[in-house]
Amino acid sequence: MISDILMERRPGEPGAWKPDPSERMDLPGSIPFLTVHLAALGVFFTGFSWTAAAVAAGLYVVRMFGITAGYHRYLSHKSFQTSRVFQFVLAALATSSGQMGPLWWAGHHRLHHLHSDTAEDVHSPVVRTVWWAHVGWILCGKYMQTPRRMVRDLERYPELEWLNRHYLVPPTLLALALTGLGWWLGRRFPALGTNGLQMLAWAFFAGTVCLYHGTFSINSFCHLMGRRRYNTKDSSRNSFLLALVTLGEGWHNNHHRYPASERQGFFWWEFDPTHYALVVLSRIGLVWGLKRPPDEVLEEAKFFSDLKAGLNPADLAALGIPEAAPEG
Ligand SMILES: [Zn+2]
Ligand SMILES: [Zn+2]
Repeated sequence: MISDILMERRPGEPGAWKPDPSERMDLPGSIPFLTVHLAALGVFFTGFSWTAAAVAAGLYVVRMFGITAGYHRYLSHKSFQTSRVFQFVLAALATSSGQMGPLWWAGHHRLHHLHSDTAEDVHSPVVRTVWWAHVGWILCGKYMQTPRRMVRDLERYPELEWLNRHYLVPPTLLALALTGLGWWLGRRFPALGTNGLQMLAWAFFAGTVCLYHGTFSINSFCHLMGRRRYNTKDSSRNSFLLALVTLGEGWHNNHHRYPASERQGFFWWEFDPTHYALVVLSRIGLVWGLKRPPDEVLEEAKFFSDLKAGLNPADLAALGIPEAAPEG
């Protein structure tokens, strides 16, 4: 088995890549995405208050959890189980972050795992460019459609289909609710120094922009920076920095090695707050059946770390063993 791992294909080298003529930017379709970025500049005009900043930070964490636990670990990978009601709660929370609907997100993500860092991988920074992997493909009309063949298992839930069709409803409702909250706090507790527009700019628009680029950094930078523990067929990497930003998704090389695992930080020292939160939710019975990485995958990590300790970089490269790139 170990020899199979050593012989696996190395990640491709960046080539001269240009978008296909069918991959033009869709300006009208990108208006909501671009508008959110423009509106985030409102933080420079609406003033600062600790109240708006605290709500923005708290909502960033909660909505990022919707993406990591809901869209990614649950809907894309089925790495744990939950009730139909909590499935909807997770999906609606994730949809409020403005990253399209649950079937669209899971479908494109499953395609990424199927074709990681090959010509068919829509957001590979290795085969294509970092800009394209990060945001170029998001602006492209060709990829606005839900890849239906990848999400047949999710199509039987009409409530998920509804969210997928009306993906702008949860973020719009959240924006209205935050404006109302800021307005009410401003009138009821004027000492807090906030108001409706300030709350909207900080907690909704700026928070949503941070969520976009936090999430997208996994597609782009997490295939470029950090360490490779496992010799996966793609160029995925483990990055503590990106794990901080994305509540644990930065252990992306671990994740590509064993995508069915609920936890992506495979070891106690790999910070994975999404996993900690899911453990708490499992204790109160909201989720269950959390899948662990199998023992042989954990042993494989030990095998590589022992090898690295005993060989110099040239020998490691000759054997095709994951390189010890600087920690990202
Ligand atoms: Zn990846
Ligand atoms: Zn994944």
